[in-house]
Parts: sequence; C-alpha cells; structure tokens
Amino acid sequence: GATTSSQAFEVENGPINPFTSNPFSQGYYDILNRRRQLPVFEQRENFLQMVHSNQFIVIVGETGTGKTTQIPQYLLYDLLPHLSQRLIACTQPRRVAATSVAQRVAEELDVKLGEEVGYSIRFEDITTPRTMLKYMTDGVLLREAMGDPFLEKYQAIVLDEAHERTLATDILMGIVKEIASVRSDLKVIIMSATLEAEKFRKYFNNAPVIEIHGRTYPVQMHYAREPTKDYVQEAIKTVTSIRNNEPPGDILVFLTGEKEIEDACRIIRSRISSSSSVPLAVLPLYSILPPQMQQLVFDDPPVGKNGVQGRKCIVATNIAESSITIDGIVYVVDTGFAKQKVYHPRIRVESLLVGPISKASAKQRAGRAGRTRPVNANSINASLILPASGKCYRLYTEEAHEQLEEQSCPEILRSNIAPETLMRALESLNYLGALDDDINLTHIGQLMSQFPLSPELSKMIIESDRLGCSDDIIIIAALLSAPIIFAKETSSVDARFRKRRFVHPDGDHLTMLNIFREYKKQKSRDDWCQENSFNSRSLKAAENIRTQLAEILTRNGLKLNRRSIQDPLYSINIRKALISGFFMQAAHREGGPILLTCQDNQAVTIHPTSVLSEPYEWVIYNEFVLTTKNFIRTVTKVELSWLIEAAPRYFDPQFFPQSRGRKQLAALTRRR
Ligand code: ADP
Ligand code: MG
Repeated sequence: GATTSSQAFEVENGPINPFTSNPFSQGYYDILNRRRQLPVFEQRENFLQMVHSNQFIVIVGETGTGKTTQIPQYLLYDLLPHLSQRLIACTQPRRVAATSVAQRVAEELDVKLGEEVGYSIRFEDITTPRTMLKYMTDGVLLREAMGDPFLEKYQAIVLDEAHERTLATDILMGIVKEIASVRSDLKVIIMSATLEAEKFRKYFNNAPVIEIHGRTYPVQMHYAREPTKDYVQEAIKTVTSIRNNEPPGDILVFLTGEKEIEDACRIIRSRISSSSSVPLAVLPLYSILPPQMQQLVFDDPPVGKNGVQGRKCIVATNIAESSITIDGIVYVVDTGFAKQKVYHPRIRVESLLVGPISKASAKQRAGRAGRTRPVNANSINASLILPASGKCYRLYTEEAHEQLEEQSCPEILRSNIAPETLMRALESLNYLGALDDDINLTHIGQLMSQFPLSPELSKMIIESDRLGCSDDIIIIAALLSAPIIFAKETSSVDARFRKRRFVHPDGDHLTMLNIFREYKKQKSRDDWCQENSFNSRSLKAAENIRTQLAEILTRNGLKLNRRSIQDPLYSINIRKALISGFFMQAAHREGGPILLTCQDNQAVTIHPTSVLSEPYEWVIYNEFVLTTKNFIRTVTKVELSWLIEAAPRYFDPQFFPQSRGRKQLAALTRRR
C-alpha cells in the first residue's frame, strides 16, 4: 500500500503493464495522455493521502470529470489487488454504465475485458479469477452481500452515482457502513455528481470530501415560449433546426423510453436529406439496447465528403444525464420528462410512468452541453473548432421550470418497503413457504435465495424438480426474465396470428415455451426470428439466462427433468409448477370478459395479445398491466383444485369477497 501519485505515474509510463507483465500497446499511451487531462487527475495525490488515513471518503464532481473511470484505477495502483487477491468493486445504478465503463477501463488499462477488469450485472458475469476491478450494478452487490455478509471478497467498495438515490445504493450505504465498523481494512468511497454531499458526509462519520471541479463552459438556455403539445415532435423539430442553423457540435436529446426514442430516431433520419454534405449519425441510447449498439454513442462523429465534419445526434433516456459521459456534446434538447418507478400500494404493482423531471435533473441535463470538449479536441478531431459555449433547449416554458420539484424523491421513500408493504412481503414469503410462521428462513427459502429471481419464479423452479418439469420451467423463468420475445406488433390481431403456429391451448406460458423450443431447433435462428417477428435478441438473452439457471439448479442438488409433450402430465405439471410460485396472481371469471384478481379484487380483462381469447374459469397471470384499462398479461389456464392444493391457507373462502369465485371455492373446499 501507500503508493504516491508520482510512483503510480512512473509505473503507468511503462514500458511494462504491472498487472499483466505484457508491454503496453501504443493505444494505451494515447489514452493515458487523455486521462491525465481529466479534472480528477489533479486530485490524485490528495485522494491517495486521504485513502491512506481514512476509511470513508466522499467524492463530489460534475459529470465528465473522470470519477467513474479513474478513481477505481487510482485504487488499483494503490491497493494492488493482484497481490492481496481482494477485489475493488465499483457499483452503478444502471447496467449500461457498468458494462460501458468496464469496457472503457479495460481499454485504458490495456487489458482484456473480463480478465483484470470485468463487470457483473444480473444474468451476466464477465469476470474471471484474475479480475481485480469489477464494475457492477448496485443490485448485484446487494445480492452478493446476502451470501457474503462481510463482503470479504472486496478490499475497496466504490458506490458511484450516489446522488441517484436508488433503492439498492441506499441500502448498500447502510450495509457497507456496518461492515466497515468490523472490517477496518475495508475502504469505502461514495461518489456523487451533485453537490449534495453533506448528507453522505454526515452519514459516513463526517468523512472527508473531495470536490472535483469540471472545466465548464457557459450554457445558453432557451425556453419554449408556450407549452408544447407534443414534446417528441418538438424535439425532432429542434434537432432539425440545430442541424441546419447551428455551428458544429453534437446533439443530445432526452426522451423517456425505447419506443419514443426509436420512433424519433426514425423520423429524424427520414428528415435529413441524403443530399446534404454534412452527415448526421442518429444514435439511440436506452438500457435494453444491446451493448454493441450502446457503445456506438462513444464513436467519433461521421466525416462527410471532402473531410466535412459531421455531427452525431444521440437520443437517450436519462441514462445520459449523469451515468455515462459522452464527449463533444454542444447542444442539449431537454423535453423535461423521464420515466420513473412508481409503486401503487393498493394493487401492489410497480410501474414506470412518464412524469416531469426535477430542477436538479434539468440542471444536470443542461450541464451536458458545457463539458468535456478539451479532451475530445485532443482526439482525432484536433482540427475541429467547437463553439465556446453550449446551448440547452428546454422544450417547456420558464414558468413550468420554476414549478418543477427541486429534487426527485429518493426511491427508498417511493418504494414498497413501507411497514404495510413490508408486512405484505413477509406474508407472501410465508405463503410461498420461504419463511415459517416465526419469520425464520426455511430450507425452501434458503434454496430460493440462490436464484437471482423474484421469490415467485424461484419457488416455481424449486417445485418443478419434484413435478418432473424443471427443464421446462427454467425456460419459462428465463423467458419471463428476458425482454419480451415478440417484436413490436402492429396490432393485437397480428400478434395473435403470428403466435398461431406455436399456440398451446392452455395458455401463454406454454406457448412461449413452444416458441423457445422451436427456436432452439433452427439452423439460422436470426432469419427464423425475422420471419416470425420474434425478437432474436430476447430469445438469445433467454437462452443465456436458461443456461445460468440450469447451472444454479444442479449446483444446489436439484434435477433437470422433463416429459414428452405427448405425456398427459406435460401441461398439467408445468402448470402446477407455475402455480406453486404464482398462486397469488390468480384470477377468476366473473362474467363476460371480466375476471377478478384474487389478490386485490381488481376487475381485469385478458390482454389482447394473449393466446387465450376467452377467459377461463381460473387463470394465473404474470403481469398486471395498468393502462387505460386493467389488463392481465401472459395468462395460463389452471384448475381451482390445483390452486387449493398448492396454497390451502391462501385459498380460504373467508378471505374472498362475494363473487362467483368465492362460491366455487366454498363448494370445492366443502367437498374436500
Ligand atoms: P464521471 O464519472 O466523472 O462522469 P467518467 O469517468 O465517466 O466521468 O468519464 C471521463 C471521460 O472518460 C469521458 O469524458 C470520456 O472521455 C471517457 N469515457 C468514459 N466512458 C467512456 C466510454 N465508454 N467510451 C469512451 N470514452 C469514455
Ligand atoms: Mg460517473
């Protein structure tokens, strides 16, 4: 330990990579120079001295100052984890940030991604025993803490993007503080993009604070004169206008979600005439975009004929607000909206809703227009002269801005962990058999915790072993965990039609299973997906998740088994396994197309994309969809007797309000 910044500086100058013992490549030295121009670099010595004499450090610095990429590397050269065999962790609230930063840092250290530097996000662990620095989502570290309560694998933990106040990071702050009190060797670094460090400083025993000041440029603000009716259209217009009238510089547009972003990108591309000499690369950026596509936003803007400098226009969700830094942005188009997680306690559903952003977010977005150019000017485009100030177009009025909330409310205060919902969660775990009546973890609960899945999915997997269908059930669990496998449908009729060849009469879960099995048989899978309008990325993701679940299953002494499709027990036992996890998501037919959910007595209809066009007496569903109407999606027929058998205490008629369902339940229970 106790490396000084000048010692590290010398080693970094080469010629031999201390972590791999290979000579450094030329690319390495180019990046090294750029890294040394980041504002964080000036604080390296200061940081190292603080780390040597403190257990907790808070770092505050604007986005783009180099915190996420550099601080873990400073720790690396100081703690030398390849000798101690203990890793450095750096958490990110977003998967995109974890994967893209890991890739960047691997490049900066001149190592292969997944070896010395890796990442770990749910269902994707790109690390090896050689890994010294691991970027990971906060959720993954939280899960690791359950199995390794002292997080002994790590000698330093960097909690990044603390200002985002995600549930997982907030809980981790509590956990690492506890751990640090018994592990004096553990270093904890809290990093935040906004100046609200006071709370963190106090919480971590008055930890010292390092402030990193960005080299910011002035940003000119433009507001809408009157409220806009359609912010997507307005954003598209603004992009076109910037492109036609403004000096060089890249554009960053904030929208709220995948569909909006893809639509906007398509329209922008169609509006720019190919005859123009200034090329424009239009690039989407959102969390479920595949990593290779995400990485494109970091490429240099296109160059046109005769070396004319083009632009890139990145259309992103609030991922681009602070979690990842894209150089060269001069123009920001802020629609003022973002998707936020909202919990509806009445129906116990969490959903993402579009709502106005906070003033803090608006400021952060505007700030994206005034940074990071000096670094870029050193890259290939050294000749490029960018304007001395950025511009931010707020597509809302100045009055509307005044009315925004100062800060968005931390997730922990918006979430379903209030005492009532906590009680409900314990109750559910008790019904699932994971907790006994004294809230002790049962053997089943212990097994369930081994799966990186919801309790419902984990329970059904464990039960499926006994029912002889675990090979089918882990596929279903994987399909339910991957993005939706059906490509965007033009209409629900269309969607139903496409599924027709694969339909299983008992419902959507079994239909998805048919599709997956058919997919596996194909030689040219991508073509097959295209022909049938399935999303091949989702199927690929599901396949990968399936492999991991199979591995966890066998590692825990459970068997992989299945029946032939002709076996009468095939569909019955798969559905019984589904029920063992999802009996709380059952619904019964009341009249016409209307069903009532057992959990909260909500009147719902089956989503039009389901293969079940008519409600069956009793069904289970995967999802409650809240739109203009209440829908249940991914629905499968079941028998009431199976429900009672799986959860007799839950299916007690006295808990049901007067309804057809209750009558059937009472009659059947009496007969038993
Ligand atoms: P901060 O965490 O303070 O916002 P970062 O460490 O993420 O800053 O970024 C610092 C610089 O590193 C950026 O300005 C950019 O030049 C470079 N950088 C970061 N991520 C990537 C990436 N994925 N690809 C290329 N360059 C990157
Ligand atoms: Mg960062």
